[in-house]
Parts: sequence; structure tokens; C-alpha cells
Amino acid sequence: MSSVAEIRPAVCPLDCPDTCSLSVTVQDEKIISIRGSKANPYTDNAICSKVARFYPDFVHGKQRLKYPMQRVGKRGADEFKRISWVQALDLVYEGFTDAINRYGGESVLGFNYAGPHGELAAGSLDRRFFNKLGATQLDRGPLCGGVRGGAYASLFGNSPGMPPEQAEVADLIVIWGNNATVSNLHLSRVVSKAQKNGCKLVVIDPKRIRIAERADLYMQIKPGTDVVLAMALAAEIERRGGLNKGFIDQWVDGAEEYLVQSRNYSRDDIEAICGLPLDQFDALADYYLKAQTVAVSIGNGIERGKSGGSGLRAAMALQALTGNFCKLGAGVIAKPGFAFPRTSDRLEGTDLLPDGVRTFNIVDISRLLLDESLEIPIKAMMIYNHNPIATHPDQQRMQKALSQESLFIVGCDVVMTDSMRYADVILPAASVFEIEDIYGSYGHNYLQRAESVIPLVGEALPNTEIFRRLATRFGINDEGFELTDKQLMDQAFADNDPRLQGYKPSEIPLNTAILMNTSGGEATIMCDTVMPDTPAGKIRLFDQELEAEYGYGVPRFEAIAPVSKFPYMIISPSSDDRTNATFGGSAESLVTQIVEIHPDDAAKCNVKQGDEVRIWNELGEVFFTVAVTDRVKAGVLYTPKGAWQATSRSGQTVNALMSADSRTDIMQGACYNDTFVAFEKAQ
Ligand code: SF4
Repeated sequence: MSSVAEIRPAVCPLDCPDTCSLSVTVQDEKIISIRGSKANPYTDNAICSKVARFYPDFVHGKQRLKYPMQRVGKRGADEFKRISWVQALDLVYEGFTDAINRYGGESVLGFNYAGPHGELAAGSLDRRFFNKLGATQLDRGPLCGGVRGGAYASLFGNSPGMPPEQAEVADLIVIWGNNATVSNLHLSRVVSKAQKNGCKLVVIDPKRIRIAERADLYMQIKPGTDVVLAMALAAEIERRGGLNKGFIDQWVDGAEEYLVQSRNYSRDDIEAICGLPLDQFDALADYYLKAQTVAVSIGNGIERGKSGGSGLRAAMALQALTGNFCKLGAGVIAKPGFAFPRTSDRLEGTDLLPDGVRTFNIVDISRLLLDESLEIPIKAMMIYNHNPIATHPDQQRMQKALSQESLFIVGCDVVMTDSMRYADVILPAASVFEIEDIYGSYGHNYLQRAESVIPLVGEALPNTEIFRRLATRFGINDEGFELTDKQLMDQAFADNDPRLQGYKPSEIPLNTAILMNTSGGEATIMCDTVMPDTPAGKIRLFDQELEAEYGYGVPRFEAIAPVSKFPYMIISPSSDDRTNATFGGSAESLVTQIVEIHPDDAAKCNVKQGDEVRIWNELGEVFFTVAVTDRVKAGVLYTPKGAWQATSRSGQTVNALMSADSRTDIMQGACYNDTFVAFEKAQ
């Protein structure tokens, strides 16, 4: 007889800014359904459809990894046999120890990114373990988010930006390079409330995303040219006498150097470079100058090209030049993460790391794995919280790198993925619903805690327990590895920080969200309750460090040389079907992916709605199904990111078309959008 269904609280751990509180219906120890809950007042009962549609099957479906496994076939062929945990840990020990004995600790790499976002699952005992081994360190930001973070810090340092719900009282909201409806869902609800109060909405995005349908002004900008628009707008605002001189004198550092550069961008550039009509540019300037309270949400979309860092900095700088800070409803909606009193060094055990250990840019990993001239080669790695085949640029190079028989690979994930197939040993990880963890957010200011709602599935284990067992197998005796998950939670945040409102992190009640205000308990308002955390204590528009390191003291545009053989740019933002590559293995996702093509381009190449097309460049070829639409600009193609290899009969996804060697202007980020291709009807 079936037990009664029960509703239990949880928190969504996915790589999404919204970190929703969840209500999970459980029956017979299985998840029956997942809905939103009211525990988090910002996400307030609403969640995206992908979590509701796909998460139960992700936990209990055919692809779930339930037991440790050992590879018995060719790499990538998905041929494994079940083994015990003892055998699996022995194999990891032997593989890593062999590499360390021959080449030293730096020959090992923990190859992880942002799978789950719980503080413990994302980076706690795992980091301690690899630090203790003296393993090569990874700079993860360049894969995604690091350029935006670096751009933000250039202006504001480590001070938290504007909490999204404050935008409700803005009279102008600008959503720039942020597909809010699918990847920042609750912001679109804030926008709706603000619009009811008469707020104007401007959306700037290369694709006419859903939120653009309700904008007062939608600007379909050419990808990678945001810096031109923002700099030209700064110059236009100056020409029209719209600079807020009082604010600039008090709060802005480097405005003059910045304005000298912005004057190089003319109205002509708006049409010629950004592909935007001048009447839209004038309307944007009018909106900006008429508004009293402007809130800007600037997404990761801007960072994915050569001039990405400059585009982000220039878009944020408009707020400083017009004095849109110091008051509720005005500011840059970004980096609420700085509002949480995290103690990441303590949690990750950075003191365990030997001096002088090298750090690699995550985007370089496929190249470095194949580099025979490296003094210390990478000979053993553990892929966890990550699906590099699906998410890194230059997919074929990544496949080649992971196919080397001389490389020992441990895989650790919740489900079988394109990347797990390359592992020698697979360690099954518990899903978020089987563990306890604590959750900050990178899209709002609420801290939440959750406990397991179902028992561990099969022999899967929480990440923390996997690394506890690995530490024991490796003979690591540091007491830091003996801590319970609750003790680790308490190490994740500063002791007795007033922002925690008297709670120990591990004792935050379930089904509750704690608002991270300032330490004085006030709402976060830049230049009012929080100050720019820069050397001069002002918003920095000229950055000496970025000048010294990259030659970008102020933002500027770098045009990308066109390649006549490959006349189309292809961009790959988020979609309704996946959170990055998570859920890419669901039946709904494992279908030929859509590519959106402008009607003029479709006609030129003689393809029509529903046709299969081959899209290629010198790096790869991918097959898609055509959707003809003016949601994209002529010359620009769109396909959703995070697809898995089975979606294309070439076994390659859009990432196979992207170079892993081009870099953004600052922070050495990946240039996903600077991808040029040709297309034809498939044979
Ligand atoms: S993926 Fe984002 S919007 Fe969807 S449930 Fe998770 S946190 Fe919420």
C-alpha cells in the first residue's frame, strides 16, 4: 500500500541567480512533484518550468548514477561495470598517487565548475582535499561570470549591488543582455509590478526575448557592441547637459578620463556598429534623462565577446554619470553575493594549499591537457559539479583531451552526462534532495538552509561525504575533514555576524529565508548604506589595475575582424529547457536543437521553417532544425546553450563551433559569442 504524500521544504541549487525556495511532494521516498514555496519572499511560490518538469526524473530516472562504476570499454563509449565504494576509492587513490609519485601534486586537477550552488556541495571539503594534495588550482570565473564580476568590481569593489526587488519603485528599468524571463524569472515579476506603477522598461538584447515584448523600447543590438552604445550614450548625455555633476564630484573617480574616451563614440557608430536606428538611440537618451530613479539589470550576455568587459563597465558607468545611486530604486542590480558574510577561505581550507602551486584558467584546460611541453603535465583529474564536454568552447578539443588513455579521470555526478562517459571511475553524487546544505544566492539577498527530503538514492553520497572518504583513503588526518555538514555550514559564514540575525548558519530554520541587509540592518543602497569598496571609496571609472594588466583603464570597443567564409554570428543564451547543461539528458532536451534564423538570411540560403541545416566553421559542424523568425537580427543566429551531443547527428553541439583560445578584454574570459559560421540546408 502506498504511503501518504508529504510536502517537504527544499531550495533549488542550480546555477541560476534566483535560488528559489521549493515545496517537494514526496511519496514512498520518491519525489512526485516540485513546486515553488513562499518561504523565500522574493521567489514567492513561483519557479521555472524546467525544474518542475525535469527534476523528478533527474533524481529517479534512467540516467541516474546510483553506484560507483569502473570503465570497461573505450573512453566515451559508456561501458562501465558496477564496483563497490571501497574498490572505487582504491582506484582513485591508485590513479592519483601514481600521478603524484611521478610528477608531483600539481599533476592532479580538481576539474569543477558550478553544478550545485549549495555552499557545501559547491566548494568545501572538495577544495580542502585538492588543496591538501597540492593539486593545480583552477580559475573558474573565465568560463562564465568572471568578466561580469571583474567589471562590477572595477567600479564598486566588493560592495553588494542593488537587491532586485528595490527596482519595484524605479521609474525606468533597463534590462541589458539578461534574458530575464528564462534565467532571472523573478526579476520579470518585479518589472511587472514596477510597470503597474508607471515605470518605463527598456530592453537591450540581440534577441527579441520575451520580456522585450512588454518593453517601451526594445533595442536589437548587434552582439558584442554594447560598449559602443553605452559610451555613445554617455557622450550624448554629456552633450545634452545631463551629467549629474554634484554626484560625480562626490562619488565618482576617473570621470574625466572616462568622458574623454566616450567622446570618441559618435551617433554614426550607433547605426554602423551597433546596427541600431538613431531614433531608438535618441529615445533611450530621452528615457534616461527624464527618469528620476533608474535601475539597471546587466546580464552575463554582454560578457561573452571580446569587448565584453568594456560593455559591462560602460553600461554600469551610465548610472554613475547620471547619479542613479543613493536612493531606493536606483542602482545596478548585481552582486548581492557580497551581502552574505561568507568565509570562503575557511570553508575551502586555503591554508592547506602549499605555497607556489600553479593556477590554470579553466578555459585553457583542454589545450593544457594536450600540451606535451608542460613541465608538469596534468595526469589525473576529477570532473565534478561540471560537464565540460557540454559547456566549454571547442568541444572537439575537449573530447580529444579527455580521450587520452594516459590521463586518469575520476567522474562524479548525479546523472550520466557526456563528460562522465570519459571517466575511468565514476562516483555517484547525491542530488540536492538527498543532502543538507546552506544556500546564498547570486540573484537576491536571502540565505536559506535545507535538509534532505528523500533518502540517498542507491549508493549515491553527498559531495562532502565523498571527499571525507577520499581524505581517509589518502591517509589525510586533518581534523577539518572530520567535521559534520552542520559544522561545515557554521564555517561557511562569519561567526556572530549581525546579518545572520542571531542564528548559527546550521540552525537557520527550514522553510525560512533570512534577508541579508547591511551589518547595521539597513537595506542595501549604494552610496547611502553601502559605499563603493574601491581604493578612493568612490565609483571608479578609470581603473589603474585594469590599465596595467590589460590596457583597459577605461572601456573601449575592439572590432572583431570579419571572416568572409563565415558571415553569420551564432549566439547561444539560456533557454526554458535547461539550466546551462543540467537537464540536457531529459527526453525533451535530447532532440535536434532549434536555430533561429532571420527571414532574409533564410531566403538567401534557401532554407525554410522546419528544415534541417548544417552549420559549420573551421572547428566543427552541427545540425539544427530551422526556425525562421525576426526575433534575431539579420546576420545573427540563435540556438539555446547547454545541449548534449546526442542532439546533433554530427555528435557535436554549438560549443564545437566556438574557439577556446580567444579571450575577453579583461579577466581572460571565454568569447562564446564571437563565433562565426556558415550554414546550408542539410543533405
Ligand atoms: S532554476 Fe532558477 S528559477 Fe528555476 S527553480 Fe531553480 S532557482 Fe528557481
